[in-house]
Amino acid sequence: GDLVEVDLHEGLETTLAVLGHKLKHTSIDVAREYDRTLPKLTVRGSELNQVWTNLIDNAVDALGEHGAITVTTQRDGECALVAITDDGPGIPPEIVDRVFDSFFTTKDVGQGTGLGLATARRIVVDRHGGSLTVDSQPGRTTFRVWLPFTTPAG
Ligand code: ADP
Ligand code: MG
Repeated sequence: GDLVEVDLHEGLETTLAVLGHKLKHTSIDVAREYDRTLPKLTVRGSELNQVWTNLIDNAVDALGEHGAITVTTQRDGECALVAITDDGPGIPPEIVDRVFDSFFTTKDVGQGTGLGLATARRIVVDRHGGSLTVDSQPGRTTFRVWLPFTTPAG
């Protein structure tokens, strides 16, 4: 999409509202740790909402019925940093390098396409010049997204 100014927290809240139908059948607790002083971001349309959806959806899947998700925002130099942490089982070290690959999934047929993280990476890295990392151990998985405050045009 065209470049537009957005409030990062509005996008996160919209995503959490959309995922509410899935979350309400669980006792998963979602904690927000937002830096409300973050400036607005210049980004490509509403593409980032797909990133938040894919990351939070995976966290919900990893947790199942119970657990905690924390969504953190902060400033990191010329970027906004969004971290999505869950206290689920984690990603086994032998597969962590493959989770961003298209069609890589550990879910049952029909439950996962294996495209969520590949899409998230394309939107963050290729479309916004940002970066996306994962850091996982049993009981704590964090996906971090860095987005420049202003996406380069073009
Ligand atoms: P899908 O959700 O369709 O399987 P994704 O690209 O979204 O595809 O994720 C790929 C894989 O990465 C998942 O199948 C899962 O094995 C792993 N994964 C992603 N997020 C998490 C998480 N928060 N906790 C544990 N495993 C995860
Ligand atoms: Mg997914």
